[in-house]
Amino acid sequence: MEYYGSIEAGGTKFVCAVADEELKIVERISIPTTTPEATLTQVDAFFGAYQLKALGVGSFGPIEVNRQSSTYGYITSTPKPGWKNVNLLGALKERYDIPIAWTTDVNAAAYGEMHLGAGKKTQSCIYLTVGTGIGGGAVVNGNVLQGFSHPEMGHISVQRYKNDGLESTCPYHDNCLEGLAAGPALEKRTGVKGQLLEIDHDVWEIEAFYLAQALMNYTLVLSPEKIILGGGVMKQTHLFPKIRESLQQQLGSYVSLPNLENYVVGCDLGDNSGTMGCLLLAKEQRGLE
Ligand code: ADP
Ligand code: ZN
Repeated sequence: MEYYGSIEAGGTKFVCAVADEELKIVERISIPTTTPEATLTQVDAFFGAYQLKALGVGSFGPIEVNRQSSTYGYITSTPKPGWKNVNLLGALKERYDIPIAWTTDVNAAAYGEMHLGAGKKTQSCIYLTVGTGIGGGAVVNGNVLQGFSHPEMGHISVQRYKNDGLESTCPYHDNCLEGLAAGPALEKRTGVKGQLLEIDHDVWEIEAFYLAQALMNYTLVLSPEKIILGGGVMKQTHLFPKIRESLQQQLGSYVSLPNLENYVVGCDLGDNSGTMGCLLLAKEQRGLE
């Protein structure tokens, strides 16, 4: 039997999975991200037991997605030791002589959620993860959105919440969403990790303000049918109503949004958004290889 393979290549772990023709996952494994060589050796050992038809890869980045570039398929300027300028797609192509779909982890998650999860029945969705960093992917009219590169939705500039003097945790930008609202920013604001904060802490209003401001901007630029929020910080489900309310407030009455409860939603596929997206890209061979 032939299978589809998926690699969700993260900075902390590589989640690999194999699925059948119906995209039912047959086996899934989590491999710690160490050096490229050691990590790929373990990836090989996992896929070795299967005959693969195609592989979908959603990678942490930034990555090169422009086929015209001499570094197409590379992980480019990551601060992760050992992974800067690594030709990940090339290394996989050497190992597996099959079609390989190549995109960002968040684009893969957006694709998975749109087709099989929270975005079913839509054609245009945004997926945003709020965790160690903030990253967004978009599917527009059924296709993953890429241009000269991939979107970097976590690094948009935001206006500061009144009197917010936090020093941005992003080394590149003083006023970007990630630097003011990702997990490390939450921790810097409060002195404790987000998962330990009480739900009535004042910081959640600030957090909701920044996320809503970002959602407003994505809404105005892309007009998606749905925005799906995932990542560790969004396990704080009380944030959803706060974000919806702030989004409505910041937009004013300028754009009439779809029903907010259906517009700003959580993931349906849990930890499998990226994996399912990679599998589907592999199955459909969506021209990304
Ligand atoms: P990663 O982004 O590394 O893949 P996560 O999405 O779990 O992993 O993000 C980790 C970040 O999210 C950390 O900064 C952590 O403190 C924060 N975080 C994880 N779980 C929660 C939670 N339940 N509530 C708030 N913050 C959380
Ligand atoms: Zn930034």
